[in-house]
Amino acid sequence: MKLRFSQVPMVVTSVILLLGMLLFYWLHSGHTSRHLEQQSNDAVTRYLLEQLPTLQNAMMQHNLAFLQDWVALKAERDDVEQVLIFNHDYKIIAASQIALEQEFLAQHDIALMRQVQALTDVRQGQLYFVDQAVPQHIGVLMALPDFGRADANPRHAFLYLLIDSSATYRLVNEILLSDFVLYVSSLLLCALVIFLLTRQSLHRRLHNLTATIRSYASGDSNARVHVSYNSEFSALEGLLNATFDALEQQKLISQREQLFTSQVVDSTTDGIISIDTSGKIIMINDRAVTMFGYAQKADLLLQDLQILVPTTFRAAHGSHLFQTNKESYRHGVINQLRHIEGLKRSGDTFPIEITIAENMRGQQRIYTAFVKDNSEQFAYRRSIEKLAYYDELTGLLNLTGFKRQLGQDNSNGQLLLVNIDSIRTVNDSLGFAAGDELIKACASLLAQLPLHQSIVCRLSGGEFLLRCTDSPLVLRQQLPAFLSQEIAFDRRRYQLSYCCSFVSFMPMDDLDDKHRQLELAMRQAKQKGRASLIEVDVQWTEQIQRNALLSHQLEEAIRQNELFFVFQPKFNAQTCQPASAEALIRWINRGQFVSPAMFIPLAEQSHLMPALDRLVIDRACRTIRQWLDRGLTVLPISINLSAKYLCEEKTIATIFEKVGEFDIPPHLLEIEVTEYSFINEFELTTANMLRLQKAGISIAIDDYGTGHSNLEAVLSLPVQHLKIDQSFIRVGMSSDKGRAILENILQLAQSLHIITTAEGVETQEQLDYLATAGCDYIQGYLLSKPLPQAEFEHLLGQPR
Ligand code: C2E
Ligand code: CA
Ligand code: CA
Repeated sequence: MKLRFSQVPMVVTSVILLLGMLLFYWLHSGHTSRHLEQQSNDAVTRYLLEQLPTLQNAMMQHNLAFLQDWVALKAERDDVEQVLIFNHDYKIIAASQIALEQEFLAQHDIALMRQVQALTDVRQGQLYFVDQAVPQHIGVLMALPDFGRADANPRHAFLYLLIDSSATYRLVNEILLSDFVLYVSSLLLCALVIFLLTRQSLHRRLHNLTATIRSYASGDSNARVHVSYNSEFSALEGLLNATFDALEQQKLISQREQLFTSQVVDSTTDGIISIDTSGKIIMINDRAVTMFGYAQKADLLLQDLQILVPTTFRAAHGSHLFQTNKESYRHGVINQLRHIEGLKRSGDTFPIEITIAENMRGQQRIYTAFVKDNSEQFAYRRSIEKLAYYDELTGLLNLTGFKRQLGQDNSNGQLLLVNIDSIRTVNDSLGFAAGDELIKACASLLAQLPLHQSIVCRLSGGEFLLRCTDSPLVLRQQLPAFLSQEIAFDRRRYQLSYCCSFVSFMPMDDLDDKHRQLELAMRQAKQKGRASLIEVDVQWTEQIQRNALLSHQLEEAIRQNELFFVFQPKFNAQTCQPASAEALIRWINRGQFVSPAMFIPLAEQSHLMPALDRLVIDRACRTIRQWLDRGLTVLPISINLSAKYLCEEKTIATIFEKVGEFDIPPHLLEIEVTEYSFINEFELTTANMLRLQKAGISIAIDDYGTGHSNLEAVLSLPVQHLKIDQSFIRVGMSSDKGRAILENILQLAQSLHIITTAEGVETQEQLDYLATAGCDYIQGYLLSKPLPQAEFEHLLGQPR
C-alpha cells in the first residue's frame, strides 16, 4: 500500500503515540516489578526480624540442634530453596541440605563468601540482600551472634536464605501484560476517535472548498467559500476567495480589453489578418474583409490565405510561408514593409502594402499581416509619374523621363535632335490647336522610326530628342527618306520640313552637354541654311561650348571688376618723347592670361560689350583722377570703344557721367573707335561723336587699314585722330605701291588736320621711314611695350 502524503502526519502521530506508550510501559513495568520485589523483600525481612530473637537465643545458648531443626523446618517452605547458618569462620553449622553441614562456605559458594567478606560495620539483626547468579532468586543474609559470644567485640555468624521469587515475577508479568493490553487498546481507541473526528471536520471543510471551486469553475462567478475563523483553513479559504476576486477583476479587465481590441481592430483603416503556420486564416477584421471584396468574416475565416494571393504568386507565397517558419529566414520578412498584390473575390488584383508581425499564442506561432490598400496611392503615383516623366500632349517621354530611361540603358549609339519647322508655320497659319495635332502626328511618326532601341522624347514645340543604337551611316540612309514621307494631317497629305542634328552618344556622356551641342549645330546649320541632316562636328561645338563658358566667366569677371589696364605709350615721331598712352584691357582668368583679341570678340558675341565699355570708361576716369590727385604729370589716355555702341545714348551718357563724376579734364581722355566699318546708324554715331568732340573729348579711328572702308568716308566722321594699323605699316614698308598708298593716307590726313599714329612699330627702319613720311606719333614695341600700371606711373613721374 502506498502512503499518501496526507496520511503521513497520522502515521507519524501513531508512531509517536506507540513509542510514548512503550516508554510509559517500560517505566511503569520497572516500577511495578520493583514494587513487588520490594514487597516480597519486605515480607522476608519482616519474617526474619520476627525470628531474630529466637535465633539469637539459640546462638547464644549454643543450641545447635534447635538451629538445625529450625533450618530444616524453614527449608520446608516452597519458596525457600536453601538455608545456611555459618559462623565467623565461614563454617556451615546448619544447612537445609545436611551434606553441607560442617563444610566451609568457600567450598560451597565462594561468590557468597566474597560478598560476606565485603560487608563492613556488621550489626546483629542487620539484613543484607546479596546478588545471586540464579535468576529470579533472592539471597538474604542476617547477622547473628556467634556461639557463646556476647562480648564487647562480638563476632558474627550469618543466616543465609536463598528464596525463589519466580512466583512473584510471574505475578508481576501477568499484571503488566494485562496493563499493557489495557493501555494499548485504550490508546488505539482514543486515536481512532480523534482520527475520525478530525477526518470528519477535514472532510466537511474540504467538501466546502471543492464544492465552491466546482461551482466557480462551472461559471458561478459569485461562488465564495465560507471563511471559518480561528481555523487552520481560514487562511486557505481567505486566499481562495481573494484569488477568485482577483480572477474576476482580471476577467473584467480582459473583457474590456477584448471589447476595446475588437472595436479598434474592426474600426482601423488597415486590414488585419492573422494566420497560423499552416497558412490558415484564424482572425480577420472587417476592413480586410471588405478590402478583399468579401461580404463577411465567415467567408474567409479558417480558409487558406492563398485565397487572397493572386494565382501567379501562390507557389512563391507557399514556399515563402514555409521558409518564414524557419528561424533564419524570418528576419527578412517579419516587420518589413513590402509592396505586393492582393486578390479580390472578383478575381481582380490590387496593390497592397503589407507588414507582417509575428507573435505566439501559447505554443502556437501566429503571423499577423497589416494590410493597406494602395490602389489609390498607386493610381496617384502613376498619375504623378505620368506628369513627371511623360509629355502630356503626345504621350511620349518628357526630358526627365528620357533621362531616367537612358540611365537604365548602357548602349552606345547616337543622340538625335529633330526639329519640325512645319509646326511653327501651322501654328502661325492654322492656330495652336492645329499645331498640337501636327505635333501629335509627328510624335507618332517618330515613335515608328525604323531605328534600333530608340527612346524618343518631346522637348517642346516641335522639338524631339531621340536615342538609338544605329550607326551614323544608317541614320543618313534611313532618316531623310522616312521623315520626308507625307503624313495625313488636316484632311490632306502634308510634307514635313524638318532639321535633324545627331551626335554619337555613350552612356558616360553628359546628356545636357550633348543636347547643347545638338542645339548649337542645328542653330548654326539653320543660320547657314544648310541641309536638314547635320552630324555634329564635336570639336567645333566643343570650341563653341568653351567660348560659352569663357563668356560666362568674363561676365563674372566684369561684374567682380577683375579686369585691369596696361598702358602703352605713344611717342612723338620726331622727338620720340611719350605724348599720350593707350589703356589696354587685361584679364587673368583662373590664373591664365586671356588675350583681349580673344575675349573682346567673345564679349561682342555675348552682348557683354556695353558692360565692358562701362567698366573701361569708369576705370580710365578713376585712374586719371588718382594720378591727378597724386600730382603726376598725366598724359592723355585713350580707351578703346566699339563704334557699334557709340550710336547708343547709354554709352555717351556713361562717358559724360564718369568724366563728370571724377572731374576729368576732357582733353586727358581720348576714344579709339574700333569696328568702324560696321557702323550702322551713321548719322546718330556722327552726332554722338560731335557731342563728345564739343565736350573736348577727342575721337581716334583705330586699326585703319584692316577693313575695306573708304578713307574719305572714314575721314568724313568728326575725328581728330587716325591710327594706322600695323599690317598697313608692314605693307607700306614692303613695296613701292604700298609706300605710295601709305604716304597718300598720311598726306590726306595732314591736309585735313587729322593727327596720325602708326601702330605696331617694331623696327628703327619703320620709325625712321614714318618720321620722314610725316606720321605724327609712333606706337609699338620698338619704343615701349604695354606697361603695367606701376611702371607706367613711374614713367609719368620722369622729367621729359
Ligand atoms: P588695338 O587697339 O589695335 O591695340 C593694339 C594692340 O597691338 C595691343 O594688343 C598691343 O599690345 C599690340 N601692339 C602694340 N605694339 C605692338 C608691336 O610693336 N607689335 C605687335 N605685334 N603688337 C603690338 P592687345 O593689347 O592684345 O589688344 C588687342 C586689341 O584688343 C586691341 O587692338 C583692341 O582692339 C582690343 N582692346 C584692347 N583693350 C581694349 C579695351 O579696353 N576695349 C576694347 N573695346 N577693346 C580693347
Ligand atoms: Ca586701340
Ligand atoms: Ca589698333
